[in-house]
Amino acid sequence: MKKSETVREHAARETRLKGVPLSDGCVAARVCLFNEKRHSNLPLYRVSGSGAVRETRRAKRAIELASARLEEVRERVAADVGPAEAEIFVAQKMIIEDPKLHDAIMKVVTDEGANAEAAVMRVLDAYEARLSAVDDAYIKDRASDFGEAKRRILDVLANMRPSLQCAGEEHCQRGRNRVIVAEELTPTMTVDLDTEHVMGFATERGGAHSHGAILARALGVPAVSGLPGLRDRVGCGTEILVDGRSGEVIIWPREETVARFCAVRSGGVKMPAPVDPVPGLRVMANIRIAEDVAEAAAMKAEGIGLYRTEIEVIAAGRMFTEEEYAERYLRVLRGMSGAPVTYRLLDIGSDKPLPFVEIPREDNPSLGWRGARFLLGRPDLLRAQARALARVSRHGAINVMYPMIADADQFAALRDAFRAETRDLPQGDIRHGVMLEVPAACLQAKEILDEADFASIGTNDLIQYLYAVDRNNERVAHDYHPDRPALWRLLGEVAAASAQTGKPLSLCGEVGADTRYTARLMEMGITTVSVNTRLIPAVRAAAARRPASGAKAE
Ligand code: PEP
Ligand code: MG
Repeated sequence: MKKSETVREHAARETRLKGVPLSDGCVAARVCLFNEKRHSNLPLYRVSGSGAVRETRRAKRAIELASARLEEVRERVAADVGPAEAEIFVAQKMIIEDPKLHDAIMKVVTDEGANAEAAVMRVLDAYEARLSAVDDAYIKDRASDFGEAKRRILDVLANMRPSLQCAGEEHCQRGRNRVIVAEELTPTMTVDLDTEHVMGFATERGGAHSHGAILARALGVPAVSGLPGLRDRVGCGTEILVDGRSGEVIIWPREETVARFCAVRSGGVKMPAPVDPVPGLRVMANIRIAEDVAEAAAMKAEGIGLYRTEIEVIAAGRMFTEEEYAERYLRVLRGMSGAPVTYRLLDIGSDKPLPFVEIPREDNPSLGWRGARFLLGRPDLLRAQARALARVSRHGAINVMYPMIADADQFAALRDAFRAETRDLPQGDIRHGVMLEVPAACLQAKEILDEADFASIGTNDLIQYLYAVDRNNERVAHDYHPDRPALWRLLGEVAAASAQTGKPLSLCGEVGADTRYTARLMEMGITTVSVNTRLIPAVRAAAARRPASGAKAE
């Protein structure tokens, strides 16, 4: 698509597509293409000014992470295979940590305006070529170490990088003021993007309760999915209209079309004004990364009801150390100034794979090695997180929530594993709770709450498993909705189990953020919800205008 192409030039070929609405609202703006196939398509672009500062920072961080990962590999190989075999990784590590290499990469960024990937390739390719040319078998062999070191740094960069396909930095800026067009929205992308300023989403695949759809609703921007082939029909900079109510997407919309659908072009997303807590409903915040705590506090959240701790690990592309976890978790605890914080243990698997942990291919990943099962199978991954949480608990009471629990025994097994990993640490008040998102666990809510300190209902997965309907599949999105009696019967039973046991209950799935259900939840005794931060004011407003008890729910 040529840059000079304008809306007027394209008016004649306005193209209408019908997809699945994921998030309400309407916007007309330019496209930013998001490329998930990043390993096969490295972005090479020119930078200057603040772009160069950012790229040097990315390169520096990638070098540090690649070196840390290599050390992990070296230790594993040394233990599993032997010290001699581990030596090869020492050589690569020395290359990556060489200050001369570091300086050369930074110089290519600052002097030549190359992005981090381009600079890493240029410098390491040059070293490799020079060594390969030397007429000495030993030195030639060393050349391949440079190639391997380069791939390791690029791998890290691939996981850190905003995977934008648009050429030229000024064009996309991590989706700022753009409609993101992608195959599907993944949890990692939600961190890569400048989410504060994204205007909307249009994707080829993805269901109404995929993480991308949740993000779009949280941001209050329109989103439509179920648009196969969309990425072939638009380029970066293409004008596109996204109507999240009807599911219509229009490529190169005419002025009059924009006026009819959206009234305004590229309106911009406004942060809603905070609303004070209301009687009868406690509204907490769902957060993805530690930085989100500031917005939660600004929105007067009455606590963090769900901290999806896996998101920043997935985005970083590596496991955090105990210290790194603890630093983040303490920041959130302090940011909430004494209000409760619920840390969900890593919820890995299915739609949230860890890029650095090999999960063998599964026919049914959503029924496979995920959530609690994954944590029970990988005590090494549980350990650092559990120990960090135990350390943080010395600064204030914390809630630790276990994902995808199927029954009381599984919960007890995972809680015991947590305790075993942290036994030697001094710790404060830790409450152990359960995500109720598997139907069997909801049916056993009483037995689980006899054992656990609290529970929170995850309706996003609960609907998926209760009705056997994939939350991520746009083709079955029409069947994925909360207006189904079995769900409400189950929610009623869980609320009754909480009342009977006296154990606190909240609801942190998207049903809690949908104001059509606020009154109904309150009527059935679910009086704590946790929602995406920006939706707190709307949920409080709905609770405040709830009909008096006994009247028909909204
Ligand atoms: C849920 O399943 O409802 C939930 C809150 O967790 P997630 O969306 O992260 O699976
Ligand atoms: Mg879930």
